Amino acid sequence: MGFTKKLTNDQATIAFGKELGPLVQPGDVILLDGDLGAGKTTFTKGLAQGLGIKRHIKSPTFTLIREYQEGRIPLYHMDMYRLEQTGAADLGLEEYFDGDGVSVIEWSQFVKDLLPDDYLMVHLEKDPDDDNRRMLTIEGKGPHYQKLAQEWEEADGK
Ligand code: ADP
Ligand code: MG
Repeated sequence: MGFTKKLTNDQATIAFGKELGPLVQPGDVILLDGDLGAGKTTFTKGLAQGLGIKRHIKSPTFTLIREYQEGRIPLYHMDMYRLEQTGAADLGLEEYFDGDGVSVIEWSQFVKDLLPDDYLMVHLEKDPDDDNRRMLTIEGKGPHYQKLAQEWEEADGK
């Protein structure tokens, strides 16, 4: 169960992420899946806006995790790309998942064994014919995230 969304430029991706902001709840986990440059960090900028975060969202590629506390609920922005080289350290991910905020994870495949059973998956794909086009596939795993996906799709139609 899920839906797809075509986005014509980075501003559209930001706007789409922003719509999810009011819908996420403490403890929610969102996985962002897609190649380098697919728009995972760009999408997160939109989500941050939707949470009311005004601070600039910087890719956490080198820090692995950045926390933003000033929005409606905290945002834990994670990028596990560097784990490919450094190996899975004990990052205390569970404490984030059990925390008061929403966790957004880029390159979650590098921490596969540490992920919760249920999550919202956002898959981002580039259009080979157009640098600015993306196709997003949204899928909720488990009833909570299926509902979230459905709410997001409804909010997007408005
Ligand atoms: P990732 O985090 O997946 O590596 P980024 O969000 O850092 O990707 O980079 C995506 C790049 O592609 C940015 O330079 C962004 O401006 C550009 N871009 C162009 N079109 C889009 C789009 N529709 N959605 C997201 N990013 C886009
Ligand atoms: Mg990124």
